[in-house]
Amino acid sequence: MDARECIFCKIVAGEIPAAAVYEDKAVLAFLDIGPVSDGHTLVIPKVHYPTLDQCPPEVLANLVKPIIRLAKAVVAATRCDGYNVLCNNGLAAGQLVHHVHFHVIPRMSGDGVFHHWPSSKYSEGKMEAMASAIRKNLEFTSGKS
Ligand code: AMP
Ligand code: ZN
Repeated sequence: MDARECIFCKIVAGEIPAAAVYEDKAVLAFLDIGPVSDGHTLVIPKVHYPTLDQCPPEVLANLVKPIIRLAKAVVAATRCDGYNVLCNNGLAAGQLVHHVHFHVIPRMSGDGVFHHWPSSKYSEGKMEAMASAIRKNLEFTSGKS
């Protein structure tokens, strides 16, 4: 999907409406139209990048302070007990809109939405092999980045 067909780019351009809650020159935040819970907010960069890994760090950096401010405002407005900040990347991970975005989802104790995802165990040696494969792809071999 390119930017011309992107629903979030259309929201940024004012071509379709959204319940905006925050805006600055680089960032827009608005209520999710299909909320997990009341106050579920989406925070997006105004420029179109499909996924987190495709988005330049300086663009993502613009989102950090607004996400923190919005999290506090959402907590205050909804009186939720906690919140999730989620970023789905790729269809397999549940990303439906291919314009990078962060969900801020208010959560109440015992709301049953999700608590813990299924966890598994590494078989003998698999954990170190996996860590090694990831380090190799980072070209990272010591404590330094
Ligand atoms: P994701 O599955 O992470 O890509 O999330 C996309 C989110 O965008 C979903 O939670 C949708 O409910 C939400 N969404 C889709 N279209 C709109 C829209 N026009 N206004 C607000 N939220 C939207
Ligand atoms: Zn877009």
